[in-house]
Amino acid sequence: MAMTSFIQRFKVRPGKNIHLPEIDTDATPGYKNKQEAKGDIADCVQRLRDLQYLLYAENKRSLLIVLQGLDASGKDGVIRHVLGYMNPQGCRVTSFKVPTAEEAAHDFLWRVHKAVPGRGEVVIFNRSHYEDVLVVRVHKMVPKPVWERRYDKINEFERLLADNGTHMLKFFLHIGPEEQLRRFRKRLENPRKRWKISEADYRERQYWDAYQNAYEDALSRCSSDDAPWFVIPADKKWFRNLAISRIVVESLESLKMQWPKPQVDLDLIRLKYHEAVENS
Ligand code: AMP
Ligand code: MG
Repeated sequence: MAMTSFIQRFKVRPGKNIHLPEIDTDATPGYKNKQEAKGDIADCVQRLRDLQYLLYAENKRSLLIVLQGLDASGKDGVIRHVLGYMNPQGCRVTSFKVPTAEEAAHDFLWRVHKAVPGRGEVVIFNRSHYEDVLVVRVHKMVPKPVWERRYDKINEFERLLADNGTHMLKFFLHIGPEEQLRRFRKRLENPRKRWKISEADYRERQYWDAYQNAYEDALSRCSSDDAPWFVIPADKKWFRNLAISRIVVESLESLKMQWPKPQVDLDLIRLKYHEAVENS
């Protein structure tokens, strides 16, 4: 596998102002085509599986993966193709929809805080608390002073999670408008995918620029070393899957996790329950 760190390549450096038009949605740095990437994808997925098992066994820290992106940017695909390989014991997905009446009766972080991973767990957020500075901002669901204050609250909240041993990786799946339309059309034609289509998906396209601006602010204001954002070129599904799995693998490897020490004296156990019995 190529040695360049994907974390370094795609991470939004804390404090940097992101300008999305400068980032290609169909870039595939380091790889010419899917064929060339196949081996690395398989390798990453295997390592991911092993590392998740180690995280679960170690039971010390947790991993929170946030997936954000416009409709058809591939959030569901990443869950299926990349994270679907993890052991369901110790792994969970939470999707954030339009808030229910009960959720809407609380502060915007209430439903999110309840869903964060406990020690040893991996949790994937399909959308997240960022919707409250994205869709909510674009559609003016709350006044500007309210959503403006949320960036600080989000940073504070994510610091709290980090201090408690939660590693966060936040992925923005960056697609272009033509690719989105292509995917909508495919959904329309595929009997297995039609159910996903709503007219709202098409209507949202008129807010494209407003969404890009809202994303730029979220990425620029809320990327920290504890909870970094990554901008993933997502027009090519195979590259998106490769990039995300590599970044998760690189991050988990950097934790230098250790198998927990057995709680018992193994020699004693061997002697008492195996050798004595097996030799008798
Ligand atoms: P989907 O991910 O396609 O199932 O759609 C979920 C919908 O819920 C999207 O249109 C989101 O924008 C919307 N949504 C998620 N969180 C919020 C929120 N906090 N306020 C308003 N709409 C939201
Ligand atoms: Mg949708």
